[in-house]
Amino acid sequence: MNVILHVDANNFYASVAIKNNPTLKGKPLIICGDPEKRHGIVLAKSNEAKKLGIKTTQTISEAKKICKNLICLPPDYQQYKKYSEMLFEIYKRFTPLVESFGMDECWLDVSGSIKLYGTPYEIANQIRSTVKNELGITVSVGVSFTKTFAKLGSDLKKPDAITVIDKSNYKQIAWNLPADHMIYIGDSAKLKLKQMGISTIGDIAQTSPIILERELGKTGKKLYNYANGMDDEKVGEYYAEHIPESISNGSTCEEDIITERAAKSIIYSLGEAVAFRLRKYGLLANGIGVNVKNNEFEVFSRQTKISVPTSDAGYISRTAFENVIKNCKISKDNPLRTITVCVYNLTKGDEIIQDFLFNSDTKKSAEVNRKLDTIRNKYGYSILKKAIELEETFKCDHTRLDNTDE
Ligand SMILES: [Mg+2]
Repeated sequence: MNVILHVDANNFYASVAIKNNPTLKGKPLIICGDPEKRHGIVLAKSNEAKKLGIKTTQTISEAKKICKNLICLPPDYQQYKKYSEMLFEIYKRFTPLVESFGMDECWLDVSGSIKLYGTPYEIANQIRSTVKNELGITVSVGVSFTKTFAKLGSDLKKPDAITVIDKSNYKQIAWNLPADHMIYIGDSAKLKLKQMGISTIGDIAQTSPIILERELGKTGKKLYNYANGMDDEKVGEYYAEHIPESISNGSTCEEDIITERAAKSIIYSLGEAVAFRLRKYGLLANGIGVNVKNNEFEVFSRQTKISVPTSDAGYISRTAFENVIKNCKISKDNPLRTITVCVYNLTKGDEIIQDFLFNSDTKKSAEVNRKLDTIRNKYGYSILKKAIELEETFKCDHTRLDNTDE
């Protein structure tokens, strides 16, 4: 029998902050973007802040209205990365089958660990207490026979809790929950289900898979299987995931680059390629770099640490381009030959940040990015070029991009 756990660290960002500064313990605190900039919203909160009614994605001023003494801290991605690695080191003691789902969540297939570590509940409990004792962080664990139900279980009781959803109780527990509590149900599927009169997971389970497939395509069939505990998706292996140190795309041009406009067109095209690969790996960049060589082979390079991790092509390209024009005078007297855009300090993508941190403009561009990815995954990268890349008919071979993962 398959035994799958989903382990989710509770209030991960806030917990790491408290761990590093125990005087914060028991106080209402939030992790938030820069209040001066547009990123001034709540990214994460401590239990105390949660109890007061403070919510992720609220603006800082809204949160402060609820609690005057609220402690506001900036995110510290280096620390999150460090703690994330320590969490996974603990999980890997129990099984090599650990598939991460963001920095603070993962699935574990412990089917082969039962003899060694006890019943599924006992294994979950050992993981829970080991993380708590060694890292001072609490986790919620869902124990089940499918990935879908395990994930559902870890959401049901928190913090510091275990929920078992097995073959004898999944109908009582899972089927009464709203349909969109199930993973993989996004806004569009939710809307479609609502139009079909489907509001709970049980409704999905009891609708004909033929109708679901007709209305929702392949997803419909999948949702039917998920809701009935029939998904057979495997837990991936942790070691199979390699996070590169950096990703870069470079281009050497046959003609000299003598205008800012030409440089811009190339940089945006490179930024697009870098961002595509970031998203393909499910990564976000914490730093953006650009490297240019002029035709005397003099090199200029600049790296920018960014406060909000991103996989957005526009943001990456803009940052790189601004660095170039601020520091190099591009002209006939100083023509450029090679440009490379790179991203570094990469972390696994975190949906909270991706979806909520940005204002609606960036949300919109995230949607555009996803659509671009879908088309490119199907037809190949070079099928699409954004308008900016087409502006200059430059003899640069953008289809033969120089891909580097280090
Ligand atoms: Mg979490």
